[in-house]
Amino acid sequence: MVGARGFEPPTPASRTQCSTRLSYAPTSDGGGRFLCAFPVLRNRVSQIDHGFRKSGFPSCVSPSKQGKLFPHSMVSMARYLITSALPYINGIKHLGNLAGSMLPADVHARFRRLSGDEVLFLCATDEHGTPAELAAAEAGQDVATYCADQHEIQKRACAGFALSFDHFGRSSNAPNHALTQHFCARLLAAGLIEERVTQQIYSPTDQRFLPDRYVEGTCPHCSFERARGDQCDNCGRLLDPTDLVAPRSKISGATDLEIRDTAHLWLRQPLMADRIRTWVEAARDWPHLARSIAFKWLDEGLQDRAITRDLSWGIRVLEGDAPRPGFDHKVFYVWFDAPIEYIACAQEWAAASALEDGAWQRWWRTDCGAEDVTYVQFMGKDNVAFHTVSFPVTIMGSGEPWKLVDRLKAFNWVTWYGGKFSTSEKRGIFMDQALELLPADYWRWYLMANAPESADAPFTLEHFQQSVNSDLANVFGNLINRITRFCAARFDGRIPEAGADGPLETDLWAEAATRLASLTECHGAMEFRKAAAETRALWALGNEYLQQAAPWTAIRSDPDRAATGVRTGLNFCAFLAIISQPFIPATGEKVLAALDVSESRRAWPQPGIPERAFLVPGSGIASLEVLFKKIEDSDITDWQIRFGAGE
Ligand SMILES: [Zn+2]
Repeated sequence: MVGARGFEPPTPASRTQCSTRLSYAPTSDGGGRFLCAFPVLRNRVSQIDHGFRKSGFPSCVSPSKQGKLFPHSMVSMARYLITSALPYINGIKHLGNLAGSMLPADVHARFRRLSGDEVLFLCATDEHGTPAELAAAEAGQDVATYCADQHEIQKRACAGFALSFDHFGRSSNAPNHALTQHFCARLLAAGLIEERVTQQIYSPTDQRFLPDRYVEGTCPHCSFERARGDQCDNCGRLLDPTDLVAPRSKISGATDLEIRDTAHLWLRQPLMADRIRTWVEAARDWPHLARSIAFKWLDEGLQDRAITRDLSWGIRVLEGDAPRPGFDHKVFYVWFDAPIEYIACAQEWAAASALEDGAWQRWWRTDCGAEDVTYVQFMGKDNVAFHTVSFPVTIMGSGEPWKLVDRLKAFNWVTWYGGKFSTSEKRGIFMDQALELLPADYWRWYLMANAPESADAPFTLEHFQQSVNSDLANVFGNLINRITRFCAARFDGRIPEAGADGPLETDLWAEAATRLASLTECHGAMEFRKAAAETRALWALGNEYLQQAAPWTAIRSDPDRAATGVRTGLNFCAFLAIISQPFIPATGEKVLAALDVSESRRAWPQPGIPERAFLVPGSGIASLEVLFKKIEDSDITDWQIRFGAGE
C-alpha cells in the first residue's frame, strides 16, 4: 500500500522554478516537503505539501500554474489514523505496558496535531477471552461487571497520564459485535473460513468444554502438579491438555474429564499467504523489526487458525440473528475480534461525537475518503505478527476496501530492574500507583527518553531519580524558573521592550533552527529516544545562552543588554515549552499560560529559523511555582521497599 502511493521527488527543473520562494527538503519518512522563506506562506505551504503527497506532484511548482500558487482545492491537512495496541482488561497496566504502546502513540499524536495534521487517535480495552473470565472469577464478579469496572479504572489511569485518545472504546461494545459478524460472513462467503470438527476436553460436571487454560494436571516432563493445559509454568514447555497426567477441571476440580468432538470455525490463512507477502514486501515504511517478524511467519508458512472457542463470554457466532447451528455455547476467539475493535472504536467515536457514519468511514474505508490517510500502529514486539499477518488476513480477505497499516512502531520490553513486572508479587510500579507518587510528566519524560526501541530497557528508581533531577529539574525547570523570577524582580514582570539583538541572539536562534530540524525529523520518524535527546539539547542551549547573556550581571552596567537577554530568554522559554508539549504536555501548558502565549502561536514551529517573537513586548507574565521538584534519596529508599526494587 505504501509503495503504491506514487511518490516521486520533484525534478531539478521544477525545484529551480520556485527557488525564490520554495525549497525542497527530503523528510525521514521517505517523502519530502517544501520549505518556504516567507513566514506568512508557511502554513499554506505545509498544506500544499500534503496535496503534493496525494497527487504525486504539486501544481504549485508547475510553470503553468505560476501566479496561482495556492489553489483553494489544494488546501487540506495530512491525515493520520493512530492506534495503540489494546490494553487487556484484567487489571491496571504497569509502566512497561504504558511505555511500549499507549504513551509513544500519544506523543506521536500530539506531535502530529501540533504540526497541523488531522489526527484520529484511538484505543480501547480488549475484554474477551479466558483471562478475563478467570480474573472476574477471582474478583468474585460476573465477567460483564468486572469488565465494565476495569474499563473505567483503566480509562481514569489513561486520563491521569494525559493520553489524548479521541476515543477510548471497549471491544465488548455493540459495534465490535456487529463488525466481527460482518467479517466472519464475508470470509465465509469468500471460502476463507470453514467449519471443522476437532477433539477437546469436556467436563460433564461443569457441563462445558474446557479451554486449555481451564485444564490443570501434572506435567509429563517435570511432574509439576499445577501445569496448565497450554503450558507448564515450572519447566516452560508448551502442552496440549491431553498430555497432562491426572487432568482436572480448574473450575470445579472434577476429574471425570472426557474427550469429545466439537466443531469450530477455522480461518484458512494459507490461502491469503501470497497476497500478504506481496503487501509486506511493498511496506517499505515499516521498521526492520516489524518486517522481519512478518517474513519469519510467512517463511515458516501460515497455519489454519481456529477462530472460535467454547466459552460463554465473548462475541457469539451468529447466522443471521440466531446462533449458528451447533455454536450455541461458542464465541469468537479473542484474537479474532480484538483487532477489529480498531475499526469498531472509530464507530464508537463517531457515535459518541454525534457524527454520521461517513465520519468514521473517511478514516477506514478507502472508497469513502481514507485513501489519503496514513495509518500508524503502535505495539509491543509480541503483537507484531498479529498486526502484520493475522489482522490483514481478516480485512484483506473480506474483499472490501479497508485501510491497511502504513507505518508501524514496535517496542521491546521495559523491565523492572531487568526482571518482570508482577502484580501478584508486588514488583514494579503500576499506572495508578505512579500518579500517587508524582505528576504524569515526570513519568512520561523518563519513559520516552529511555524508550525500549532497540533493546529492552530496564526501569530502575535510581536512574529515574537521576534523569528527573538532571533533565527536568536542573536543566528545563531551573531555566524557566530562573528567567521568569528575574523578569518579575527587575522588569516588573513585563516582557522588556528595550535593547537590540546581537550576535549572541543570532547564534542562539541559528543553533535552535538546526536542532529543531533534527527534532522534527526524529518525531516524524517516531524515534523517541532521539527526539528526547534533541529536546534535552534545546533545553541545555537555553541555559547556555542565559549563562552567556547573564542579564543579572548586565543589569548593573548595561540595562538594554539585560533587557535583550531577558526578552530573548523568555521567548526562548516559550519556544521550548512549545516543542516540549508532546513529551510533557501539562508542564508545556503551564509555561505557555504563564507567558501568555496565545493558542494560535503554540503550533509546532515550521522548519527554518524559528520566529523569535512568541511574546508581545510590554505584556505581563505570571509567576510560576517550581516546575519540577527534585526526587530525594529518602523517596527512593521508600519506593524501593514499597515496589520491590532489585529483588
Ligand atoms: Zn513441566
